Amino acid sequence: MNKRTDQLHAYFFPVMAPGHMIPLVDMARQFARRGVKATLVTTPLNAPKFSKTIQRERELGSDISIRTIEFPCKEAGLPDGCENLASTTSTEMTQKFIKALYLFQQPIEQFLEEDHPDCLIAGTLFPWTVDVAAKLGIPRLVFSGTGLLPICAYHSLMEYKPHLKVESDTEEFIIPGLPHTIKMSRQQLSDHIKDETENPMTEIIKDVMRAEMTSYGAIVNSFYEVEPNYVKHYREVVGKKAWHIGPVSLCNKDNEDKAQRGQEICFSEHQCLDWLNSKKPKSVVYICFGSMSFFSSAQLLEIAMALEASDQQFIWVVKQNTKNEEQNEWMPEGFEEKLKGRGLIIKGWAPQVLILDHEAIGGFVTHCGWNSSLEGVTAGVPMVTWPLSAEQFFNEKLLVEILKIGVPVGAQAWSQRTDSRVPINRENIQRAMTKLMVGSEAEEMRSRAAALGKLAKMAVEKGGSSDNNLVSLLEELRKKQSNSN
Ligand code: UDP
Repeated sequence: MNKRTDQLHAYFFPVMAPGHMIPLVDMARQFARRGVKATLVTTPLNAPKFSKTIQRERELGSDISIRTIEFPCKEAGLPDGCENLASTTSTEMTQKFIKALYLFQQPIEQFLEEDHPDCLIAGTLFPWTVDVAAKLGIPRLVFSGTGLLPICAYHSLMEYKPHLKVESDTEEFIIPGLPHTIKMSRQQLSDHIKDETENPMTEIIKDVMRAEMTSYGAIVNSFYEVEPNYVKHYREVVGKKAWHIGPVSLCNKDNEDKAQRGQEICFSEHQCLDWLNSKKPKSVVYICFGSMSFFSSAQLLEIAMALEASDQQFIWVVKQNTKNEEQNEWMPEGFEEKLKGRGLIIKGWAPQVLILDHEAIGGFVTHCGWNSSLEGVTAGVPMVTWPLSAEQFFNEKLLVEILKIGVPVGAQAWSQRTDSRVPINRENIQRAMTKLMVGSEAEEMRSRAAALGKLAKMAVEKGGSSDNNLVSLLEELRKKQSNSN
């Protein structure tokens, strides 16, 4: 498809991780549905994860395509084929991967010079895209993959450093200047915040924050009604402009689109739907911990025992490392057979949005990744919150304390690695699931969650807050485009 001369052309360059690529692909589709030429840039092994979705979008008449760029695995000291953050298996590998993202500068510059797009929407871990965009005189919008609350919290932590003024890792402190009183402890913070001096990521994070502050603005997969105070705080206190245009998962209307997001599913959408259709409304707990989190055998066993002891029906998505997969060593004898009918175990990638949207789902046990949190909000289901790493402890605060639609499982310490996590015991898991599904408190949470789910859907409808934001962003970009022509 040739670009019309007056057609706005946006480049989308997501960090190669499912939690970044999935929402940014949805955003690109939304741009394209509004007449924008959208070009997604990714690497050869990541492109096929989205090619069917993009093909379907093109068949609907959208001007959207993918350009691929080699991942410099060898130069970065990564094994061949390690093109996605989800394929890294150690902290060292993750750090190498993040450093390797700097190596994309030269090829991206070349693409931009060839294509002359009108704006660049780039993942937060590509801070250098600010300079590349400035060279070409086009705006760079940053996409961090999170909501605004954690971003506002990071800014406060960086400025006031309350975590350095407490005596121990477990003593609580208040994050200064935020719209709500949010208490955290040092053990819930990521390593690079906890220990700035020693951490190899510190310089990169500083670079990322510098790039955020010099970007044209931020584009956010969130909606005004879910965090209104943080939309205002980001603008007035952090001092930057943000366009919240989500929940972007809502652009997936039919089952095929909902099921095929980011990876081949290992359990067909029909099998899932048949199973869910046989259940009563709001009677099933969906348990999934995102795309990056693996649990130890000890933790998987505690979850299995909690599920066996509870009366709940469930879908449990288990991501296993190769060792466990071979041995299934954590699985109690006869577990799957015993719970057949009551529970479904999906070993691999599940069609999450399709499942969450089904009326049989009554609750979600989540690691509080931002996409999952927002997908839970959008589906109108209350959640058991089980944060593990990244900014997930902040998202737990939003779900539990601010929105009041979450029951904490009791996770206390941030950790990127499975082996350093203290398992949550079966009693605590069972207690949280019961609180989620049974009793008057559960009913109240469920009705609050349902109300929020309605607001989420209204936000993206014509005239809703996110729809208005997207319209005004595109107007602004078109104005800039015509001024520069
Ligand atoms: N997801 C999915 N199936 C799975 C696991 C994850 O569709 O089996 C999707 C999920 O719907 C979400 C994304 O992968 O859109 C995970 O992003 P999130 O921010 O929740 O967590 P992360 O994986 O980045 O920790």
